[in-house]
Amino acid sequence: AKTLKIGLLPADGIGREVIPAAQRVLESLSSGPKFEFVHLDAGFEHFQKTGTALPQETIDHLKNECNGALFGAVSSPSHKVAGYSSPIVALRKHLDLYANVRPVSSVKSASTPNQKELDMLIIRENTECLYIKSERQEVDPKTGLKVAWADRKISEYASKRVGAMAFNMALTRESLRQQKPESERFWKHKPRVTIVHKSNVLSVTDGLWRETVRGVKEQNAEKYAGVDMEEQLVDSMVYRMFREPEAFDVVVAPNLYGDIISDGAAALVGSLGVVPSANVGDNFVMGEPVHGSAPDIAGKNIANPVAAIRSAALLLEHLGYTKEALQVYGAVDKVLSEATILTPDLGGKSTTSEVTEAVLKNL
Ligand code: NAD
Ligand code: MN
Repeated sequence: AKTLKIGLLPADGIGREVIPAAQRVLESLSSGPKFEFVHLDAGFEHFQKTGTALPQETIDHLKNECNGALFGAVSSPSHKVAGYSSPIVALRKHLDLYANVRPVSSVKSASTPNQKELDMLIIRENTECLYIKSERQEVDPKTGLKVAWADRKISEYASKRVGAMAFNMALTRESLRQQKPESERFWKHKPRVTIVHKSNVLSVTDGLWRETVRGVKEQNAEKYAGVDMEEQLVDSMVYRMFREPEAFDVVVAPNLYGDIISDGAAALVGSLGVVPSANVGDNFVMGEPVHGSAPDIAGKNIANPVAAIRSAALLLEHLGYTKEALQVYGAVDKVLSEATILTPDLGGKSTTSEVTEAVLKNL
C-alpha cells in the first residue's frame, strides 16, 4: 500500500484531545494507505513559549514532505497581542488552500427526534474577503473620537476557482448518491448550488462575487447542465437555513459569510463538535474541525472527537480514498444514531476516549 505522510498540528485547547483521536482512527483502518505521522508545532501556546505561532519549520515540513495534514484548533485572543497572528489563517495562505469545504449533515437517532434533517455542503472561500486583515484606526478630527476601517477584497480569480469547486463538488456528491439505494438518498432533486451574497447592498464587491460564480456555470453550460443554480442574500440565507435546511445541497459563500453560516448550520445538527472541514487547494489538503479550541471544556476529556474524526475522513476523501472515508463516516454515524455513547455537548455522559473507542469498534 502507498504510504501517506500526514502532518499533525493539534495546536491549542481541545485540539490536543481530538487530533490524537482522529489519528487513532486513521491508524486503525484495515485497508487503504499506510500512514506516517509528522508532529508539528503551531498555535497560541507555542507563541507564548517561543514568540512564534507558526514556525518556518512547520511550513517547510508541510510543503516539502507531507501529502496532507490535520489541524486541531487555535486559541486566538480577541484583543490584539503584539507579534501574534492566527497560524491557521496564515497556513491557508501559505499552502494556497483556497476553499474550506464543510459538510453538515444530521444523523437520525431516538435521542434527537425533533432535530431538523439536513445534508448540505458549505464551501467557504478561504483566502480573501475581510480575512486579508487590512485594518487601520485613526482619530476623526471632527469628533476627536476613533474610527476604524477594514478593506474587503473580492477577486475574480479567487471567486472563480472556488465557484468551480462548488459546481464540481455538486457533481461529485451526485455521483456518490447514485451509488446508494434510492431509499437512502437524502437529496432527491437535481444537484443544486446556492450562491450566498449581499450584492443588493455591496454591489461592487459582492456584485463581482455573484457575477463571477454565476459565470462559472454560464461559461461551462454543458459541463454543469446537470446542476441547478440559485442565489440567496446572506441574511435570508440564515432565515431559510433555520426554517428549511433540507432545501440546500451545495452552498458557496465568501469567507466571512461562510464562517458564520457554518457555525449556524452546526447548531442544527446538535453541536459544533460534529462538523468537520477540509481546507482544499490544488496541491494540498488539510482537515480541520470547524470548532475552535473550546477553552471552557479543554483538558477534561469531554470534547467531542467526532468533528476531528470526520475531518480525517474528509482528508482521505480529498486524497482519493473514498472507500476508506465512507468506512469512517459509517462508523461515526452508527455511534451517533445509537446515541448511547455521546459526549456532553450532545446530551451524553461519555468521554472523548469512550466515543473514540466506540468509533474504532464500528470501523
Ligand atoms: P469554540 O468553537 O471553541 O467553542 C464554542 C462552543 O462550542 C463552546 O461552548 C465549546 O465548549 C463548544 N464546543 C466547540 N467544540 C466542541 C467539541 N468538539 N466538543 C464539545 N463542545 C465543543 O468557539 P469560541 O469559544 O468562540 O472560541 C474559542 C477560541 O477558539 C478562540 O480563541 C477562537 O479564536 C478560537 N477559534 C479557533 C478556530 C480555529 O482554530 N480554526 C475556529 C474558531 C475559533
Ligand atoms: Mn469559525
